[in-house]
Amino acid sequence: MSKANVPYKIYLDESEIPSSWYNVRADMKTKPAPLIHPGTLKPLKFEEMRPIFCDELIRQELDDDTPYIRIPNEIQNFYKMYRPSPLVHAVYLEELLGTPAHIFYKFEGNNTSGSHKLNSAIAQAYYAKTQGLKGVTTETGAGQWGTALAMACSFFKLECKVYMVKVSYEQKPFRREVMRTYGASVTPSPSMDTNIGRKINAEHPGTTGSLGCAISEAVEVATSTEGYRYVLGSVLNQVLLHQSVIGLETKAACEKYGIKPDIIIGCAGGGSNLGGLISPFMGEKLRGEADYQIIAVEPASCPSFTRGKFAYDFCDTGKVCPMAKMYTLGHDFIPSANHAGGLRYHGMSSILSQLYHDGLMEARAVEQTSVFEAAEMFARVEGILPAPESSHAIRVAIDEALKCKETGEEKTIIMGLTGTGYFDMVAYEQYNNGTMTDYIPTDEDLAKGFATIPNVNL
Ligand SMILES: *Cc1c(COP(=O)(O)O)cnc(C)c1O
Repeated sequence: MSKANVPYKIYLDESEIPSSWYNVRADMKTKPAPLIHPGTLKPLKFEEMRPIFCDELIRQELDDDTPYIRIPNEIQNFYKMYRPSPLVHAVYLEELLGTPAHIFYKFEGNNTSGSHKLNSAIAQAYYAKTQGLKGVTTETGAGQWGTALAMACSFFKLECKVYMVKVSYEQKPFRREVMRTYGASVTPSPSMDTNIGRKINAEHPGTTGSLGCAISEAVEVATSTEGYRYVLGSVLNQVLLHQSVIGLETKAACEKYGIKPDIIIGCAGGGSNLGGLISPFMGEKLRGEADYQIIAVEPASCPSFTRGKFAYDFCDTGKVCPMAKMYTLGHDFIPSANHAGGLRYHGMSSILSQLYHDGLMEARAVEQTSVFEAAEMFARVEGILPAPESSHAIRVAIDEALKCKETGEEKTIIMGLTGTGYFDMVAYEQYNNGTMTDYIPTDEDLAKGFATIPNVNL
């Protein structure tokens, strides 16, 4: 790559925002395993999913074959409010590290929700609206998804009920108020409003909740309220599809300036930003047109890829959702309380799980103190205050750039910078005060979660 003609910040024109999403499943030889019904263990059919999900989103969920799916004009117009997002050449980070590597980051934090989640939220709200629904329910952990969905629903004048993991509800009052400002109702989970919430509260008095619990509550409310459906901010195929806008823009920017990535890095919670970022590059890899090293980064305290099992599991604690085949730590797994860095979900996207299983991408687990160390290094030279989740990718990008320094290799590294960390200052405070600790679950800790994985052999 010649650095001379590459601008510091690559902004595409508005007209270069993709007009179709790319569906990587179309190019996968081994398709991701389908969602199955927990009772019959048979792949779920369209009709069976209709009480839970919006019709058009089910079609997208089940579509393993169509490579390009047109983005409706209303969604393209909304994207113009905050896209295209910049691909930034991290020259100051390169200088700090003294590396011959070229580092770029695709920055998705430039909207009020502060993350990439708005890319899918607006699509899901649009399909709910065009189906004539009254509203949607969802869960949120750290709060980025709930915020993005609240924004999207207010744009399309839909009601939005968010079940927020209790510990975040209490620790992140400002996130909660952003959601309420956009008109959403926010309930701490587990609540006493649902059967599953009452059951979880009775079985685990004083529990501070988990994403798995909040999902169960949101699904129960959606399926028992007229004109409502449930929507999810990660993990599902449809969400990766919408997030492909990140990868398509990245690829267009690379092509415009002759940038050829060697390594593509992203953090992985449920897998949606990473899946979206890598989709078009993975497509080339699957079709044998190019090769890339692709690295998923996860917290050592919630290591679904690196230590999980590839199996059918429940997506939620209350077992009300369909089951998915994925790398999982077990649906009862809850990361240690000292884990502050996000990416806490027990499972992983079925698409990414299959690609990882087939050796098409790798995964690394990193400890949170080293993640925050990378976050601060990045913030001090590149200016942006990164979300703890995004900082997992920064950690590994720095590690790879330092390897290049040793070997003298001039690799090009692209990482997904998924969002900003303004609402995560309690975690930064712990790091700055030196009170942040790392916890790596023991094999015994993990065995407890694995014991809850149902024995499904398909
Ligand atoms: C939700 C979130 C993630 C992780 O979710 P994925 O579905 O794995 O992408 C990462 N970064 C930020 C800023 C988020 O809000």
